[in-house]
Amino acid sequence: RGKRAFIAGIADDNGYGWAIAKSLAAAGAEILVGTWVPALNIFETSLRRGKFDESRVLPDGSLMEITKVYPLDAVYDTPEDVPEDVKTNKRYAGSSKWTVKEVAESVKQDFGSIDILVHSLANGPEVSKPLLETSRYGYLAAISASSYSYVSLLQHFAPIMNPGGASISLTYIASERIIPGYGGGMSSAKAGLESDTQVLAFEAGRKHGIRVNTISAGPLRSRAAKAIGFIDMMIDYSLENAPLQKELSAEEVGNAAAFLASPLASAITGAVLYVDNGLNAMGVGV
Ligand code: NAD
Repeated sequence: RGKRAFIAGIADDNGYGWAIAKSLAAAGAEILVGTWVPALNIFETSLRRGKFDESRVLPDGSLMEITKVYPLDAVYDTPEDVPEDVKTNKRYAGSSKWTVKEVAESVKQDFGSIDILVHSLANGPEVSKPLLETSRYGYLAAISASSYSYVSLLQHFAPIMNPGGASISLTYIASERIIPGYGGGMSSAKAGLESDTQVLAFEAGRKHGIRVNTISAGPLRSRAAKAIGFIDMMIDYSLENAPLQKELSAEEVGNAAAFLASPLASAITGAVLYVDNGLNAMGVGV
C-alpha cells in the first residue's frame, strides 16, 4: 500500500508544507494535514471553494487530495496545558482535540498508523526584535513553537509510525551563521531544532526504527517569512551570491523532503540537508 504522511504546518498554498505535501502526493502518499487552529477556517474554506485548485495540480495532471485536515496547536501537548483564555478564545472554541497528544490519538483512531511525519511550522512573537532586545517570554515562545513543538510531535506520533518511517523538519542557516534580522530567539530555536534532530535520530532510530532529518532551506516568500520582513532582501542576496543563481522554488524543497522520506534515503538519519542553491557553502559574498 502507499505511504501515509502527516504534515503539520499548512495553512495556505505558499509555504514549504504545501510543497512537501504535493511532492509526497505525487510520489503516491496519502496526505493528512495539521493546521494551526486560528488559521483553520480560512484554510478549509479556501480549500473547499477551490481557491487552491491551481496549486493542487500534480505532475500527472491530477489534483492533490488531502484526506483529512486536523486542527492543531503545537504549543500545547495536552488539554490540561491549555490556558483558560485560549480555551474560550473565539478562534479556538469552534474546534476540539487540537493539542498534540489529542491529534496523534485522532490520527491513530482514524487511520491506525502513519509512515511520514513532517514538521513545517515555526513562530516567534518577537522575531523582528534583535536577540539582544528579546524578552524571556519572546525567547521561550519561539523555542516552544519552533523547537519543542517538534519534540512533542515526534514523541506523540512515533508510537504510531511504522518501522522504516521517516520524519522531517525545516530549519534555517541562521542557527549556525549570523543572519541579522532573524531575531526574537528564532536563531536559537533553529539551533535547538538541529541539535535535537541528532539526538532524536538516535532515540527514535533505536526505539522505533524511524529516521529523523531536517532540511535547511533557502529563502521562500511564504506567509511566515513575509512576517519577518526581510525576505525579499534574502532572496536577492541568494540570487547574487549562491553558487546556483536562480530563485529557489518551494517544489525543490518538497522534492528533497520526498527523497528523505523515501527508501532511497534509508541510511540517512540525523542529517541537516541544505536545499538552498548552495548558499551555505559560500564564505564571502561576491
Ligand atoms: P508558512 O507560513 O507556510 O508555515 C508556517 C506554518 O506554521 C503556518 O501554517 C502557521 O499557521 C503554522 N504555525 C505557527 N504556529 C503554530 C502552532 N503553534 N501550531 C501549529 N502550527 C503553527 O511558512 P514557511 O516559511 O513555509 O515555514 C515552514 C517552515 O520552514 C518553518 O519551520 C520555517 O522556519 C522553515 N523555513 C522557512 C524559510 C523561508 O524562507 N520561508 C527558510 C528556511 C526554513
